[in-house]
Amino acid sequence: MKRSIGLVIGLALLVGACSAGPGGASATAGTTSTPAGGASAGASGAAAGSAVDAIKAKGKLVCGTKFDVRSFGFKNPTNNQVEGLDADLCREIAKALGVEAETVEAVSANRIPFLLEDKVDVVISTMTATEERKKEIDFSHIYYVAGQSLLVKEDSDIATVDDLNGKTVCSGEGSTSEENIREMAPEAELLLFKTYTEAGQALADGRCEVVSTDNTILFGLAEQFPGTKLVGEPFTEEPLGIGVKKDKDDLVEAINAELEAMKADGRLTALYEKWIKPFTGETPEAPF
Ligand code: GLU
Repeated sequence: MKRSIGLVIGLALLVGACSAGPGGASATAGTTSTPAGGASAGASGAAAGSAVDAIKAKGKLVCGTKFDVRSFGFKNPTNNQVEGLDADLCREIAKALGVEAETVEAVSANRIPFLLEDKVDVVISTMTATEERKKEIDFSHIYYVAGQSLLVKEDSDIATVDDLNGKTVCSGEGSTSEENIREMAPEAELLLFKTYTEAGQALADGRCEVVSTDNTILFGLAEQFPGTKLVGEPFTEEPLGIGVKKDKDDLVEAINAELEAMKADGRLTALYEKWIKPFTGETPEAPF
């Protein structure tokens, strides 16, 4: 990805990281630590500006994930583990770095602020790598390509995005889904929520006629809220990437190296089979 290394900024970041750490995790509800095994890298030898060495010194990789999105980041109430593709990617990257994995809930609108405020090291939260977002943060390789779609009640006659004008559409605050509806159905009324479970509940209650976001999120909601169904073909492309604060090029490189290793040794396909195939019926190719 982009290589804009600023030594001065890098040094400033390291000083910040050493004195304060990423912090913030305790301020968010429900953090979950998962021992990821692997060798302890120890605290010594952190090179100036190395984001990876700062993570190794801290002994954990803090990942912002969803906590309510089945198959990507879902906090299982029976064991408090965060499950899904995003959560497993967090674990694999942490393991590769030789540190523990910790997940912190990052809803759509929190993702970039949490990176900028150093509340998390990375965001793996169904996040589309858009050109707009790339002005503020960097992204890893694209690890999955979703597409925006529609979830409606079973007896609804809404079939495509063209049917949304004049309808109340539920979606996630701070998402590309929200922006796309504004553009593609300017006459629709948007009802926005922090989490997609709240949006699904609003559909179930009749506060909106449709929930629109990534199809992969809607598959989980359809399961969560019986009597709802996905309709139409996806009408956008949502290339999902792992978000990293700018000027942490070594961390982006380490993440990409691990994604490439996972692609090469079959671990990525195994994760697609576990988390994506049950919903879509297909095991995708790694998009990088
Ligand atoms: N992938 C889209 C986004 O990053 C929608 C899903 C979400 O809000 O997490 O905004």
